[in-house]
Parts: sequence; structure tokens; C-alpha cells
Amino acid sequence: MVQPHIVKSTCCYCGTGCGVLIHTDGQQVLRVEGDPAHPANLGRLCTKGATLHLTDMRTGRAHYPELRQQRNASRQRVTWDAALDHAAQRFAAIIAEHGPDAVAFYISGQLLTEDYYVFNKLAKGLIGTNNIDTNSRLCMSSTVAGYKATLGADAPPCSYEDLALADCLFIAGANPAYAHPVLFRRIEDAKTARPDMKIIVADPRRTDSAELADLHLPILPGTDVALFHAMLNVLVWEGWIDEAYIAAHTEGFAELKRRIREYTPRFAADICGIKPEQILQAAEWFGRSPRALSLWCMGLNQSARGTDKNAALIHLHLATGKLGKPGCGPFSLTGQPNAMGGREVGGMANLLSGHRDLANPAHRAEVAALWQVSEVPSQPGKTAVEMFEALEAGQIKAVWIACTNPAHSLPDTAQVARALQQAEFVVVQEAYAHTDTTAYADLLLPASSWAEKTGTVTNSERRITRLHAAVPAPGEARHDWQMAVDFARRLEALLPPRAAVPLFPYATPEAVFDEHKRSTAGRDLDISGLSYALLDSQGPQQWPYPTGARTGQARLYADGRFPTTSGRARFVAVDYHPVAEKTDARYPLHLNTGRLRDQWHGMSRTGTVAQLYNQVEEPLLTAHPDDLTQAKLASGDLARVRSRRGELLIRVEASTRQRRGEVFLPMHWSGRFMAGQGSNALTLPKLDPQSRQPELKHAAIKLERAELP
Ligand code: SF4
Repeated sequence: MVQPHIVKSTCCYCGTGCGVLIHTDGQQVLRVEGDPAHPANLGRLCTKGATLHLTDMRTGRAHYPELRQQRNASRQRVTWDAALDHAAQRFAAIIAEHGPDAVAFYISGQLLTEDYYVFNKLAKGLIGTNNIDTNSRLCMSSTVAGYKATLGADAPPCSYEDLALADCLFIAGANPAYAHPVLFRRIEDAKTARPDMKIIVADPRRTDSAELADLHLPILPGTDVALFHAMLNVLVWEGWIDEAYIAAHTEGFAELKRRIREYTPRFAADICGIKPEQILQAAEWFGRSPRALSLWCMGLNQSARGTDKNAALIHLHLATGKLGKPGCGPFSLTGQPNAMGGREVGGMANLLSGHRDLANPAHRAEVAALWQVSEVPSQPGKTAVEMFEALEAGQIKAVWIACTNPAHSLPDTAQVARALQQAEFVVVQEAYAHTDTTAYADLLLPASSWAEKTGTVTNSERRITRLHAAVPAPGEARHDWQMAVDFARRLEALLPPRAAVPLFPYATPEAVFDEHKRSTAGRDLDISGLSYALLDSQGPQQWPYPTGARTGQARLYADGRFPTTSGRARFVAVDYHPVAEKTDARYPLHLNTGRLRDQWHGMSRTGTVAQLYNQVEEPLLTAHPDDLTQAKLASGDLARVRSRRGELLIRVEASTRQRRGEVFLPMHWSGRFMAGQGSNALTLPKLDPQSRQPELKHAAIKLERAELP
């Protein structure tokens, strides 16, 4: 019996990336506490993190590989060798007959960086397909595109310590009180310490974050660009821009200035459904505050115009020179614990290792040389939604899904179900035996989970933390990177050679990390100076951390130089476009979907903790009382909610925190819990043209009273 001891890790939920100390006897997690030495949380945890030890880590877990030889047959337990041999043979046969783009990998922002790296190399290096994407596409891809379009690189330039230093905090399309609670505590502390700090929240709903604000802008869904343009219009008109900064460090301002001329406060107020004076006030506080920091998350990103929204918000900082300084900057918050790590290794259909771009021939050649493969294919891969559309269309025959639940989390889940039903071969690598997606698995591979894994993650402020395993995985479950390597080696033996060397020589996650860090040398995120030993001895570090560095970098662009061809940041002349699906007489209400404070994603883990139901006991659709009355409903009634794609049954609650005409539905409960389906039965797969992120934040719906049989 191992004596009780403490193991360092991070919370497995949101992108805040709180450090946790796991008390363990080597077999069980006895309790957790916040790590006081971790810079992200300084010892704090929210309700989800503080109850990690209460999550049921054994019930419902996948213990053994299971395989079915035929559709509609039940899966049978098989050995790991049989499972991986079968998978490699099926993939090799499909590739031989239909080419490398007939297979795909759909992975997760909850994988560790090492897991991500191996999967990316497996798809792009070994097989020669860019059909690898991740649920981070649903989360952060508009931020990636927005940062690159304006600042030249996918790099949040701020740190959490800036929350306490800002004079004006502009929160747009984010509800950190629920989605990043420990960061919200820091915001509350800052407001208490400096009551004159101005907080502005732009959100259609009066959220708990909005309750703290000095100014709440309850804009109509999808009108963010009009709001940001109008604020810039005021900044220009009032002379609150930094002409010297614009001249020295940016390009494209003249064109954008022409574009925003029509976005007067009155013009934008009509679009946004707020008062012109509210826009004037927001612009004044932003413009006159010496230090302004913006925070955003899914409200901007999960949109068919998410990239434009990101760019329009970043413009406010470029025009006022408010970035690269303490308390200043455009700071996106990541939803998942390691969405950042996935971006670093290029684990998306359009990216390559070390923040390289697939579309850039020189970048493809660099990665091919690093991996010693003949080439990295130039054909863009299918992004998340497109991947499942191609699966339904028969262009993709086999899909490998790791650590995510697309049958619940992608928009238009009826389409996803059709795609998975008709695929030739579905592999699901998953810690839990019964998710919405495992039902479709021909091969189920049991994966280790939180507290069982070793590796690294990167949080929203570019800080890399090392995770240590505290307990063994149950049954025969294996680590994600290990499964990918074991499969890849088998496939490597079956495919025509593309590499001069064995591609997967790793015996440990550290070996994967070391290759990953070498791939970043000379890039904006250079972490060639990091190692597992350094992270253990000196604690979590922010990138860049090049060879020879003694510390990470808290802020980027302090010198006004940007990683663009000209060295200047770019204003992008974007326009406002309304939401993709208009409301009409048949579907008159705007649906907004999002998180609750005390649940996480599909509730595999948080759903097992009784006290996490204290805040909200059951799925509820929240609507304005007048909208319920119009639909002949009252709080507590059961309603049928329909969109053009699907329907579900749910109890309703009235709240004046909702604007009239808008309803809110939590994303957590799926068809496994609710009569009918989860929220994504209703949402639409309309994509941002640049980021390919779907518009999960809006769909047109109608409400009807449900008559029980
Ligand atoms: Fe976990 Fe996020 Fe809560 Fe921190 S704020 S404890 S990372 S859920």
C-alpha cells in the first residue's frame, strides 16, 4: 500500500487551467485542493474543480477494447492486439482502395498536448491526409483566425495578472462567472480593490457576469460587429485613438475608418437593440481609461461571422494602442483545458506543428523535414462539421474519434447520427463506455482520464503546466498518446513508406514533448527552452520560452512589432452581417445555447456529483415571461421546442434576464438524459467562411405547449 501523498496536476475542466494538488493513496483520489503555487489560480478552485475527487472515476468507464464485426451486432471484448490489428487493417484497406482522404480523425481539446501531437503526425505525416480536426473547432477557431488576421499569429497577448491592472474591462460574448469562475473571482477582487475600475459586459442575457458590470449592453444576437464598429467610430470622432501608435505599428486603418463611418452610435444602436448613449458610454470608458482589457469567449466565436467579430474587437485595442502593456490587450478565453495545446501542435485541418499554416508551402516543407516524411499534403482537410458531412456523403469511409462526443456536441445532431450510422468503420477512443457517440462505435478503445495521465496542457494565458498521474487507469484502459502510437506503428507496416525513419519511436510522453518543442524552435511560440524537468522544478511557464530563456513571457508585442510580413498589425475592413438563420413567423424566437456554472460538457464526470445539481437540478429552457405567456406556457410547464432541424421536450422557466424574443438552453444534457434530444438537435451547421466554426450561439426556434399523452 502506497502512503498517502500529493501529486500535482491541473483541473480537467475549463481553459483557466487551475493547478490542483491531488491527495492520493496511489489507488484512489482521496481529495483535491487548489495549488497555491500555481499562477493561474493561486490555490483557488471553483465548485467543479473542488469536487473533482467526488466524481465517480470508476462507474461507467470503458475497461476493455470491444469490437463488433458487423453493424447491428453487439461489440465483444477483444485483446488490445486484436483490436489494434483490426483497426490498422481496416484503415489500410480503405486507404488502399479510396486514398488517404477516405479516413479522418476527430479529436479533442481535452487531450493532452502529447496526445494531440501524435494524432497530428499520424494523420498528416504517416497517412498523408489533413482530415484531422478537433472539437476546438467548435470553440476557438474564430479566435485563431481573428488573431492571425490582425496580429499575425495565434497568440493571446495578455496574462491573468492583467485582470487586476485594467482600468476598464470589456467582456464581450463571455460569461466568466459560469465558464471561468476562478478568473471571475479575480475580476471581483479587482473591482473590490478598485471600485473605480469600469466593467462593461456586452451580452444578450443579463448573466451573473453582467450583474457585476457598471454597464450592461444587452445587444441583439449576432450584432457584435456593429457595436464594436460604433465604439471605434466614437473613439475616432472624440480623438481617443492613438494616432502615433497607428502610424508606427499598424496598417489598413484608413480603409477601416471609411468603413466604420456609417456606424454612428444611433445607426448601430438600432441594429444592436440598445440605446446610443450606452454605446457612447462604453466607448468613453474604453477610450479614456489608460489601461483597457477585453475578454471574450464563445459569444463571439460560435458564430457564422466569428472571425469578423474577433477582428472588430481587436481593432479597438490597435486603434488606441492598448496592447503589449500591463492591464491592456485583447484576451480570448479558451473554453477547454487544452484547446491551446492543440493549436500549438497544429492539430486542426488547416494548421501544422509549431503554429505553421497548411496553406504555406514553406511551412509544409519545414514540417516534412522535421518529420522526415516525403511531403505533407497540400489538400486542406475537412473541418469538424464538414468531416461529418463528408462521412454521410460517403467521401470519408472511416473515422477515429478520440475523447469527444460529436453525437452530442456538433450542430444538427440528426445529421451526425446519419453520418455515424452509415460510416464503414467508426473507432471511438473514450474513457466512458456509454456516451452518445460510443453507441456508433465498431471499435471502442478504453482510455485513461483525468488523474491517470501524464503530460502537459496550455491554458488561456499561454501557460504550460505539467500533469502527473496520481492513480492507475481502470481495467485495461491505455493512455491516448499510447493508443495512437500503437495503432500508428501497425499502420506504418501496412502502408507504402512515406518516411526515412520510423515515425513513432516514442516510449514516453516526454519523448513526444521533446519532439514537439523542437518543432517550435524559431517560431512565435518557441518553447525549445522548456523540458519536463524545468516545468517540475520551476513550475508552469508561459510561452514563448526559447532556448536560453530564464522565464516565460507575460505579454506579447510590447515593442509594437507583430509577426506579419510588414511587422505591423492589420486593421481588417469587416462588415456587420446578421445571424445566419433569420427568425420568422414560423420560428419567431432566437435560441442561445451555453454553459451552466456547475456542469461540464456532456456531464460524463460532473453529472456524477450530487452537489453539482444544487445550482440547477434539471435541464430548463429560460425565456422571457411574455414569450411564455404568448406560447400559453408558464414556469414549470413542459414545452416542445422546434427548429428547422429537430425538436426536443423540455421544462421551461421564466426570467426577465432574457430579452423578449430570445431563449437560453444549457448545452449539457443530451438525448441520453432528456426525452428527445439535446440542444444541438436544434442548432444549425452554418459555418464562418474563414474559421469554419459553426454558429452554435443562434438558431431560429418556436415554442409550443407539450401535451403529455
Ligand atoms: Fe477547473 Fe475552470 Fe473551475 Fe479552475 S475555474 S477549478 S480550471 S473549472
